[in-house]
Amino acid sequence: MFNEIVSFVRNYYNEPAAFIPLHEPRFIGNDRKYVLDAIDSTFVSSVGKYVDQFEDMVKDYTCANYAVATVNGTAALHMSLLLAGVKSNELVITQALSFIATCNAISYIGAEPVFVDIDSQNLGLCTDALSDFLATECEVKNQNCYHVKTGKRIAAVVPMHTFGHPVQIDKMLEICKQYFLPMVEDSAESMGSFFKGKHTGTFGDFGAFSFNGNKTITCGGGGVIVTNNEKQAKLAKHLTTQAKIPHRWNFEHDHIGYNYRMPNLNAALACAQIELLDAFLESKRKLAIQYAVLFKELPATFVEEPTYAKSNYWLNAVLFADKIERDAFLTYSNDNHVMTRPAWQLMHKLDMFKNAICGPLTVSGKVADTLVNLPSSVLVKDSLIQE
Ligand SMILES: *Cc1c(COP(=O)(O)O)cnc(C)c1O
Repeated sequence: MFNEIVSFVRNYYNEPAAFIPLHEPRFIGNDRKYVLDAIDSTFVSSVGKYVDQFEDMVKDYTCANYAVATVNGTAALHMSLLLAGVKSNELVITQALSFIATCNAISYIGAEPVFVDIDSQNLGLCTDALSDFLATECEVKNQNCYHVKTGKRIAAVVPMHTFGHPVQIDKMLEICKQYFLPMVEDSAESMGSFFKGKHTGTFGDFGAFSFNGNKTITCGGGGVIVTNNEKQAKLAKHLTTQAKIPHRWNFEHDHIGYNYRMPNLNAALACAQIELLDAFLESKRKLAIQYAVLFKELPATFVEEPTYAKSNYWLNAVLFADKIERDAFLTYSNDNHVMTRPAWQLMHKLDMFKNAICGPLTVSGKVADTLVNLPSSVLVKDSLIQE
């Protein structure tokens, strides 16, 4: 089976011998043109037309009312959590299977992550596990939700759309409302993923996206916060730009602000990339369909998009029968210069979060032991847009 997978990947990318990376960016549109234009304009940093343009493009694409570009996805998450009202010594419910940035953002505030299990279908926060945890371990008092054993306030819920597969966000939103919990969607991996036709990140109070080099579209480093709340959007812009009161020459600031804005240079690249997004998605979907066909014949389970969603298929994933077989495949594929990798170490197993409050994490444990991410780059010849 291992050989069949590796041969399929080599064949798909038409690379009989060369190293095949997990996810390579593609700069095949207006990338150079816009970046050079930003350089020629001399507006490479805090001010420039591309930041506004990119925010407009994100609004158009996601149908969110407001978009605030940030320096990266972690900053977008941090700011979203602050605006959602998370304070130090409070708790934030999230999943143990995520990239470290989710927990880092929670920790910057001095809050603590609480880990609830994931759904075996979408690999993101499980609605049943969430509602069990809230029903058995938490109580609502004066429209606030508290963890009974520690007396700490649960300040927010952060589901993550793992590898671009949307969680059951409508049910989750209902649960959050029932417990008076704000929701911040960690949509870092889900640009181009839709839940029942509505873009991920636009269900919660805030959605945070990433445009890091390995994501579906990239601007080197970058992020964006989306929200439908005008007041919060204005505050997000203000706080991410050092909380400076606009004035032609005075330096007046009215909050402790953050240098979290996206530089215009990155925004130029981001504008070119978002133009390519639909072409990228088409190519990624073609590959995912072929992986699905391949794995129908093999004793491993390919992770397909949930029936209710349209996934961007950012990173394709397959689940092997057990950890031993999974590890053997990691060795085989990487020895053969086809890059694959396991899921992230579960967050509660890291030293910083070993004392975190956890619900049962059975599915998280199983997925972390058996999952492999497969090469998922856009096939260049598939992309319709050429310079
Ligand atoms: C990539 C990613 C982030 C952070 O994005 P950066 O832009 O690298 O800061 C956050 N959460 C998840 C789940 C991610 O995959």
